[in-house]
Amino acid sequence: MYDVIILGSGPAGLTAALYTARAGKKTLIIGGDKLGGQTAGIAVLENYPGWKGTGMELTHFMKDQATSFGTEFAFASAKSVVGDGEHGFTISADDGKEYKSKVVIIATGASPRKLTIEGARELFGKGVSYCATCDGFFYNDRSVLVIGGGNSALNDALYLADLAKSVKIVYRGSAFTRAEQVLIDRVKSKNNVECIFNTELKSILQNPETQELIAKTMDNKELVCDGVFVAIGHEANTDFLSEDIKRDDMGRLAPADLPPGMFVAGDVHSNIKMQIATAVGTGCEAAIEAIGYINTRL
Ligand code: NAP
Repeated sequence: MYDVIILGSGPAGLTAALYTARAGKKTLIIGGDKLGGQTAGIAVLENYPGWKGTGMELTHFMKDQATSFGTEFAFASAKSVVGDGEHGFTISADDGKEYKSKVVIIATGASPRKLTIEGARELFGKGVSYCATCDGFFYNDRSVLVIGGGNSALNDALYLADLAKSVKIVYRGSAFTRAEQVLIDRVKSKNNVECIFNTELKSILQNPETQELIAKTMDNKELVCDGVFVAIGHEANTDFLSEDIKRDDMGRLAPADLPPGMFVAGDVHSNIKMQIATAVGTGCEAAIEAIGYINTRL
Protein backbone atom coordinates (compact mmCIF):
# COMPACT_ATOMS: atom_id res chain seq x y z
CA MET A 1 0.00 0.00 0.00
CA TYR A 2 1.24 3.48 -0.87
CA ASP A 3 0.96 6.34 1.59
CA VAL A 4 -0.02 8.73 -1.19
CA ILE A 5 -1.29 8.19 -4.71
CA ILE A 6 -1.37 11.27 -6.90
CA LEU A 7 -3.54 11.21 -10.00
CA GLY A 8 -1.99 13.39 -12.71
CA SER A 9 1.54 14.18 -13.83
CA GLY A 10 1.26 17.88 -14.61
CA PRO A 11 3.03 20.50 -12.50
CA ALA A 12 0.47 20.14 -9.68
CA GLY A 13 0.92 16.37 -9.40
CA LEU A 14 4.71 16.52 -9.77
CA THR A 15 4.98 19.20 -7.09
CA ALA A 16 2.74 17.25 -4.71
CA ALA A 17 4.92 14.16 -5.29
CA LEU A 18 8.11 16.08 -4.57
CA TYR A 19 6.70 17.15 -1.21
CA THR A 20 5.17 13.84 -0.12
CA ALA A 21 8.13 11.72 -1.25
CA ARG A 22 10.60 14.11 0.35
CA ALA A 23 8.58 13.86 3.58
CA GLY A 24 9.25 10.11 3.53
CA LYS A 25 5.81 9.07 2.32
CA LYS A 26 5.69 6.21 -0.17
CA THR A 27 4.35 7.98 -3.24
CA LEU A 28 2.99 6.85 -6.59
CA ILE A 29 1.92 9.08 -9.46
CA ILE A 30 -0.68 7.58 -11.77
CA GLY A 31 0.15 9.98 -14.52
CA GLY A 32 -2.23 9.44 -17.40
CA ASP A 33 -0.92 8.26 -20.77
CA LYS A 34 1.14 11.41 -21.30
CA LEU A 35 3.61 12.91 -18.85
CA GLY A 36 3.17 16.59 -18.04
CA GLY A 37 -0.45 17.24 -18.98
CA GLN A 38 -1.08 20.53 -20.76
CA THR A 39 2.30 21.93 -19.72
CA ALA A 40 4.07 19.37 -21.88
CA GLY A 41 2.63 21.02 -25.01
CA ILE A 42 3.85 24.56 -24.30
CA ALA A 43 6.42 25.54 -26.90
CA VAL A 44 7.64 28.73 -25.22
CA LEU A 45 7.15 29.04 -21.48
CA GLU A 46 7.87 32.54 -20.27
CA ASN A 47 5.56 33.19 -17.30
CA TYR A 48 6.68 30.57 -14.82
CA PRO A 49 9.16 32.35 -12.55
CA GLY A 50 12.71 31.10 -12.73
CA TRP A 51 12.16 29.11 -15.91
CA LYS A 52 12.85 29.78 -19.56
CA GLY A 53 12.41 26.90 -21.97
CA THR A 54 9.72 24.54 -23.16
CA GLY A 55 6.98 23.05 -21.03
CA MET A 56 8.34 19.56 -21.72
CA GLU A 57 11.78 20.52 -20.41
CA LEU A 58 10.21 21.84 -17.21
CA THR A 59 8.13 18.66 -16.90
CA HIS A 60 11.20 16.42 -17.15
CA PHE A 61 13.05 18.56 -14.62
CA MET A 62 10.13 18.28 -12.17
CA LYS A 63 9.78 14.53 -12.78
CA ASP A 64 13.48 13.91 -12.14
CA GLN A 65 13.29 15.95 -8.94
CA ALA A 66 10.26 13.97 -7.67
CA THR A 67 11.89 10.68 -8.71
CA SER A 68 15.11 11.54 -6.86
CA PHE A 69 13.14 11.35 -3.59
CA GLY A 70 11.59 8.00 -4.48
CA THR A 71 8.37 8.84 -6.34
CA GLU A 72 7.17 5.93 -8.48
CA PHE A 73 5.23 6.34 -11.72
CA ALA A 74 2.51 4.35 -13.46
CA PHE A 75 1.49 5.59 -16.89
CA ALA A 76 -2.17 4.77 -16.79
CA SER A 77 -5.43 6.64 -16.19
CA ALA A 78 -7.65 6.16 -13.17
CA LYS A 79 -11.04 4.64 -13.95
CA SER A 80 -12.43 4.78 -10.41
CA VAL A 81 -11.51 5.69 -6.85
CA VAL A 82 -13.27 3.88 -4.02
CA GLY A 83 -12.68 3.76 -0.29
CA ASP A 84 -12.28 6.31 2.47
CA GLY A 85 -9.73 8.15 4.52
CA GLU A 86 -9.96 5.66 7.36
CA HIS A 87 -9.40 2.34 5.56
CA GLY A 88 -7.60 3.63 2.48
CA PHE A 89 -8.46 4.06 -1.19
CA THR A 90 -8.36 1.66 -4.14
CA ILE A 91 -7.77 3.12 -7.57
CA SER A 92 -8.65 1.03 -10.60
CA ALA A 93 -6.68 2.06 -13.64
CA ASP A 94 -6.93 1.40 -17.36
CA ASP A 95 -3.76 -0.73 -17.26
CA GLY A 96 -5.95 -3.38 -15.59
CA LYS A 97 -4.30 -2.91 -12.19
CA GLU A 98 -5.59 -1.79 -8.80
CA TYR A 99 -3.48 0.54 -6.71
CA LYS A 100 -4.01 1.14 -2.97
CA SER A 101 -3.09 4.12 -0.82
CA LYS A 102 -3.87 5.81 2.46
CA VAL A 103 -4.69 9.15 0.81
CA VAL A 104 -5.30 10.40 -2.73
CA ILE A 105 -4.44 13.71 -4.36
CA ILE A 106 -6.50 14.50 -7.44
CA ALA A 107 -4.40 16.52 -9.91
CA THR A 108 -5.91 15.34 -13.17
CA GLY A 109 -6.07 18.77 -14.77
CA ALA A 110 -8.38 19.91 -17.50
CA SER A 111 -8.95 19.08 -21.17
CA PRO A 112 -9.94 21.36 -24.03
CA ARG A 113 -13.67 22.01 -24.28
CA LYS A 114 -15.00 20.50 -27.49
CA LEU A 115 -16.69 22.43 -30.26
CA THR A 116 -20.09 20.85 -30.80
CA ILE A 117 -21.22 22.52 -34.03
CA GLU A 118 -22.03 20.48 -37.15
CA GLY A 119 -18.96 18.87 -38.68
CA ALA A 120 -16.55 19.62 -35.80
CA ARG A 121 -16.55 16.10 -34.41
CA GLU A 122 -16.38 14.39 -37.81
CA LEU A 123 -13.47 16.57 -38.94
CA PHE A 124 -11.46 16.17 -35.74
CA GLY A 125 -8.00 15.01 -36.86
CA LYS A 126 -8.91 15.82 -40.47
CA GLY A 127 -8.53 19.58 -40.28
CA VAL A 128 -10.02 20.36 -36.88
CA SER A 129 -7.50 20.35 -34.02
CA TYR A 130 -7.36 21.19 -30.32
CA CYS A 131 -3.57 21.42 -30.18
CA ALA A 132 -1.68 24.07 -32.14
CA THR A 133 1.73 22.94 -30.94
CA CYS A 134 0.98 19.32 -31.95
CA ASP A 135 -0.61 19.96 -35.34
CA GLY A 136 0.55 23.45 -36.37
CA PHE A 137 3.41 21.94 -38.36
CA PHE A 138 0.92 20.50 -40.90
CA TYR A 139 -0.26 24.01 -41.78
CA ASN A 140 3.05 25.42 -42.93
CA ASP A 141 2.26 28.25 -45.37
CA ARG A 142 -1.45 27.50 -45.28
CA SER A 143 -4.46 29.35 -43.89
CA VAL A 144 -6.04 28.54 -40.53
CA LEU A 145 -8.77 29.72 -38.20
CA VAL A 146 -8.44 29.86 -34.43
CA ILE A 147 -11.73 29.76 -32.54
CA GLY A 148 -11.91 31.48 -29.13
CA GLY A 149 -10.84 34.67 -27.40
CA GLY A 150 -8.95 33.69 -24.24
CA ASN A 151 -5.24 33.32 -23.53
CA SER A 152 -5.16 29.88 -25.13
CA ALA A 153 -6.64 31.13 -28.41
CA LEU A 154 -4.22 34.03 -28.62
CA ASN A 155 -1.25 31.84 -27.72
CA ASP A 156 -2.30 29.38 -30.42
CA ALA A 157 -2.71 32.16 -32.95
CA LEU A 158 0.78 33.48 -32.18
CA TYR A 159 2.29 30.03 -32.50
CA LEU A 160 0.50 29.40 -35.80
CA ALA A 161 1.38 32.86 -37.16
CA ASP A 162 5.02 31.74 -37.38
CA LEU A 163 4.07 28.75 -39.53
CA ALA A 164 0.90 29.48 -41.45
CA LYS A 165 0.40 31.93 -44.28
CA SER A 166 -2.62 33.48 -42.60
CA VAL A 167 -4.38 33.13 -39.26
CA LYS A 168 -7.90 34.37 -38.54
CA ILE A 169 -9.04 34.47 -34.91
CA VAL A 170 -12.80 34.01 -34.80
CA TYR A 171 -14.23 35.27 -31.53
CA ARG A 172 -17.85 35.63 -30.46
CA GLY A 173 -17.09 38.66 -28.23
CA SER A 174 -16.50 42.24 -29.33
CA ALA A 175 -13.01 42.57 -27.78
CA PHE A 176 -10.45 40.31 -26.10
CA THR A 177 -11.47 41.02 -22.51
CA ARG A 178 -10.23 37.70 -21.10
CA ALA A 179 -6.75 37.63 -22.58
CA GLU A 180 -3.56 39.18 -21.22
CA GLN A 181 -2.62 42.53 -22.76
CA VAL A 182 0.87 41.28 -23.70
CA LEU A 183 -0.71 38.60 -25.90
CA ILE A 184 -3.22 41.02 -27.41
CA ASP A 185 -0.36 43.39 -28.32
CA ARG A 186 1.65 40.58 -29.90
CA VAL A 187 -1.35 39.45 -31.93
CA LYS A 188 -1.86 43.01 -33.16
CA SER A 189 1.77 43.20 -34.24
CA LYS A 190 1.49 40.15 -36.51
CA ASN A 191 0.82 41.06 -40.14
CA ASN A 192 -0.67 37.68 -40.98
CA VAL A 193 -3.18 37.56 -38.09
CA GLU A 194 -6.69 38.95 -38.51
CA CYS A 195 -9.22 39.17 -35.67
CA ILE A 196 -12.86 38.61 -36.55
CA PHE A 197 -15.08 39.68 -33.64
CA ASN A 198 -18.78 39.16 -32.91
CA THR A 199 -18.72 35.96 -34.92
CA GLU A 200 -19.78 32.44 -34.06
CA LEU A 201 -19.56 29.42 -36.28
CA LYS A 202 -22.55 27.32 -37.27
CA SER A 203 -20.83 24.47 -39.09
CA ILE A 204 -17.58 23.25 -40.61
CA LEU A 205 -17.67 21.28 -43.82
CA GLN A 206 -14.96 19.95 -46.08
CA ASN A 207 -14.76 20.40 -49.80
CA PRO A 208 -14.15 16.79 -50.91
CA GLU A 209 -12.20 17.87 -53.99
CA THR A 210 -9.84 20.49 -52.55
CA GLN A 211 -9.89 19.21 -48.92
CA GLU A 212 -10.38 22.85 -47.88
CA LEU A 213 -12.60 23.52 -44.88
CA ILE A 214 -15.58 25.81 -45.13
CA ALA A 215 -16.51 27.34 -41.78
CA LYS A 216 -19.97 28.82 -41.96
CA THR A 217 -20.85 31.62 -39.54
CA MET A 218 -24.22 32.21 -37.87
CA ASP A 219 -24.88 35.00 -40.40
CA ASN A 220 -24.07 32.62 -43.27
CA LYS A 221 -20.67 33.98 -44.23
CA GLU A 222 -18.17 31.37 -45.37
CA LEU A 223 -14.60 31.33 -44.12
CA VAL A 224 -12.48 29.05 -46.27
CA CYS A 225 -9.31 27.66 -44.71
CA ASP A 226 -7.06 24.61 -44.46
CA GLY A 227 -7.38 24.04 -40.74
CA VAL A 228 -9.46 25.04 -37.71
CA PHE A 229 -7.84 25.23 -34.27
CA VAL A 230 -10.30 25.28 -31.39
CA ALA A 231 -9.39 27.01 -28.09
CA ILE A 232 -12.69 27.64 -26.33
CA GLY A 233 -11.78 26.85 -22.74
CA HIS A 234 -11.27 23.77 -20.63
CA GLU A 235 -13.21 21.26 -18.54
CA ALA A 236 -11.85 19.45 -15.52
CA ASN A 237 -10.99 15.75 -15.81
CA THR A 238 -13.13 14.28 -13.03
CA ASP A 239 -15.35 11.78 -14.89
CA PHE A 240 -13.70 8.84 -13.11
CA LEU A 241 -14.92 10.02 -9.68
CA SER A 242 -18.16 8.73 -8.26
CA GLU A 243 -21.34 10.75 -8.76
CA ASP A 244 -21.66 11.63 -5.07
CA ILE A 245 -18.53 13.79 -5.18
CA LYS A 246 -19.71 17.33 -5.82
CA ARG A 247 -18.31 19.26 -8.82
CA ASP A 248 -18.98 22.74 -10.15
CA ASP A 249 -20.34 23.37 -13.67
CA MET A 250 -16.85 22.88 -15.15
CA GLY A 251 -16.40 19.57 -13.35
CA ARG A 252 -13.95 21.04 -10.79
CA LEU A 253 -13.60 20.09 -7.14
CA ALA A 254 -13.64 22.26 -4.02
CA PRO A 255 -11.43 20.95 -1.18
CA ALA A 256 -14.28 21.42 1.33
CA ASP A 257 -16.54 19.07 -0.68
CA LEU A 258 -14.08 16.19 -0.73
CA PRO A 259 -14.21 13.23 1.67
CA PRO A 260 -11.47 12.95 4.33
CA GLY A 261 -8.21 11.66 2.87
CA MET A 262 -8.87 13.11 -0.60
CA PHE A 263 -7.13 16.30 -1.71
CA VAL A 264 -7.13 18.39 -4.88
CA ALA A 265 -4.50 20.40 -6.77
CA GLY A 266 -4.04 22.17 -10.10
CA ASP A 267 -6.57 22.99 -12.83
CA VAL A 268 -9.08 20.54 -11.36
CA HIS A 269 -9.31 22.74 -8.23
CA SER A 270 -12.46 24.88 -8.24
CA ASN A 271 -10.74 28.05 -7.12
CA ILE A 272 -7.77 28.44 -9.40
CA LYS A 273 -6.45 30.75 -12.10
CA MET A 274 -5.16 28.14 -14.52
CA GLN A 275 -1.43 28.82 -14.45
CA ILE A 276 1.62 26.64 -13.85
CA ALA A 277 2.49 28.83 -10.86
CA THR A 278 -0.92 28.22 -9.27
CA ALA A 279 -0.77 24.49 -10.10
CA VAL A 280 2.56 24.28 -8.29
CA GLY A 281 1.15 26.26 -5.33
CA THR A 282 -1.92 24.07 -4.93
CA GLY A 283 0.20 20.92 -5.43
CA CYS A 284 2.40 22.00 -2.54
CA GLU A 285 -0.64 22.84 -0.40
CA ALA A 286 -2.41 19.54 -1.09
CA ALA A 287 0.76 17.61 -0.30
CA ILE A 288 1.29 19.37 3.03
CA GLU A 289 -2.34 18.69 3.96
CA ALA A 290 -2.00 15.04 2.92
CA ILE A 291 1.19 14.60 4.97
CA GLY A 292 -0.50 16.20 7.98
CA TYR A 293 -3.52 13.94 7.56
CA ILE A 294 -1.37 10.78 7.51
CA ASN A 295 0.74 11.93 10.45
CA THR A 296 -2.10 12.98 12.71
CA ARG A 297 -5.13 10.90 11.70
CA LEU A 298 -3.79 7.50 10.64
P1 NAP B 1 -10.98 30.87 -21.32
O1 NAP B 1 -10.15 31.95 -20.76
O2 NAP B 1 -12.11 30.34 -20.54
O3 NAP B 1 -11.50 31.37 -22.74
C1 NAP B 1 -12.34 30.58 -23.53
C2 NAP B 1 -12.73 31.36 -24.76
O4 NAP B 1 -13.51 30.54 -25.61
C3 NAP B 1 -13.55 32.58 -24.44
O5 NAP B 1 -13.15 33.62 -25.27
C4 NAP B 1 -14.98 32.14 -24.74
O6 NAP B 1 -15.82 33.17 -25.19
C5 NAP B 1 -14.75 31.19 -25.89
N1 NAP B 1 -15.78 30.16 -25.98
C6 NAP B 1 -16.23 29.35 -24.98
N2 NAP B 1 -17.16 28.49 -25.46
C7 NAP B 1 -17.30 28.77 -26.78
C8 NAP B 1 -18.09 28.24 -27.82
N3 NAP B 1 -18.92 27.23 -27.61
N4 NAP B 1 -17.96 28.76 -29.05
C9 NAP B 1 -17.10 29.76 -29.29
N5 NAP B 1 -16.31 30.34 -28.34
C10 NAP B 1 -16.42 29.84 -27.10
O7 NAP B 1 -10.12 29.55 -21.69
P2 NAP B 1 -8.60 29.37 -22.07
O8 NAP B 1 -8.14 30.37 -23.05
O9 NAP B 1 -8.49 27.93 -22.41
O10 NAP B 1 -7.85 29.62 -20.70
C11 NAP B 1 -8.19 28.84 -19.54
C12 NAP B 1 -7.39 29.38 -18.37
O11 NAP B 1 -5.99 29.11 -18.59
C13 NAP B 1 -7.52 30.89 -18.17
O12 NAP B 1 -7.51 31.16 -16.79
C14 NAP B 1 -6.28 31.43 -18.82
O13 NAP B 1 -5.85 32.65 -18.29
C15 NAP B 1 -5.27 30.31 -18.54
N6 NAP B 1 -4.21 30.32 -19.57
C16 NAP B 1 -3.12 31.11 -19.35
C17 NAP B 1 -2.12 31.19 -20.28
C18 NAP B 1 -0.95 32.08 -20.01
O14 NAP B 1 -0.61 32.30 -18.89
N7 NAP B 1 -0.33 32.66 -20.99
C19 NAP B 1 -2.21 30.47 -21.46
C20 NAP B 1 -3.32 29.68 -21.68
C21 NAP B 1 -4.34 29.63 -20.73
P3 NAP B 1 -16.42 34.27 -24.17
O15 NAP B 1 -15.28 35.15 -23.80
O16 NAP B 1 -17.45 34.97 -24.99
O17 NAP B 1 -16.99 33.49 -23.03
